[in-house]
Amino acid sequence: MLMMTNELTKRCLALFSGGLDSILSVIWMMKKGYEVIPITFSTPFFATDKAKVSATLNQLDLVVRDILPQHLQMLKNPRYGFGRNSNPCIDCHALMISLAGALLPEYNASFIITGEVLGQRPMSQTRRSLNTVAQLSGYEDLLVRPLSQKLLTDSLPLREGWIKKEDLLSFEGRSRKAQIALAKELGITHYPAPGGGCLLTNPDYSLRIRDLLDHEQTSAREIELLKYGRHFRISPNLKLILARTGKEMEEAYYKYPDEFFMRSLSHSGPWAILRGESFIEADLQLAANILLSYCAKAPTKAKVVWGKADTFDHEIQATKLPREAFLPLLLSTDKEIKC
Ligand code: SF4
Repeated sequence: MLMMTNELTKRCLALFSGGLDSILSVIWMMKKGYEVIPITFSTPFFATDKAKVSATLNQLDLVVRDILPQHLQMLKNPRYGFGRNSNPCIDCHALMISLAGALLPEYNASFIITGEVLGQRPMSQTRRSLNTVAQLSGYEDLLVRPLSQKLLTDSLPLREGWIKKEDLLSFEGRSRKAQIALAKELGITHYPAPGGGCLLTNPDYSLRIRDLLDHEQTSAREIELLKYGRHFRISPNLKLILARTGKEMEEAYYKYPDEFFMRSLSHSGPWAILRGESFIEADLQLAANILLSYCAKAPTKAKVVWGKADTFDHEIQATKLPREAFLPLLLSTDKEIKC
């Protein structure tokens, strides 16, 4: 029998996304007398806003940890592959549990809870997926899913009596009726609509992140810039990020003054960011031609300038291209985009 103080065995870390299930699992366990520390993990792929807002509205003291390096490492080669897009959900869940597990000593906590519900999601919350995630995390035996745990194999906290089985629930299936009823019973009125939020499930974003992974260009800046504009992979060394709106370009201009920009010398049209380690003439020429092609009022041939935003000290004579010539370079599922 493991000897632990009562105080320690009553304290757990909770993976907290801010969705109804995670709110319920935290508040349910708190009402049952356990000390719960909700934690949310941040990367550029999924915002923490939802978790922060839900925590505030439900008076929960949320811990936020950045996990981009670990998440990127996993994203390069997830053991269980990807979902429909670049979302490695099994490995991602397992990573989060694993990272929470590694934080247990820091928070003097003895187990981890999640808001997962057996059978709620067709791929990631089947019994098999829950077991796979638990095993892959390395913290299988310290993991408790309060909303469905009565239907799952007992882990150490149950076997050792740190948690009473009658404190746990047996939710199962896709319907959220039971959760909504429990929320009402617990007086939880603030919770967001289900779903959404992870950019890795977005088809266009998936193409862009895969491109960065393939080219081993995964600096924080490269990933941040995925939010802006249309991305053209000109060559392994050069990417052209063409603004979709003036507002978008203005934001990038002020936020990233150290980047190289490109624009038409004398005609209105989008600006672009040039991203690359070293620029070669042929790549720059192609980038300039694409940019000019998006300047509707420019003639077929016109000058394009590039450089740091305060100087634009390089000039290129550019030629408009037919869309078919450059759309294959566009990292988008929508190849119908008009110039
Ligand atoms: S949807 Fe995104 S955040 Fe959620 S498990 Fe999948 S990869 Fe991770």
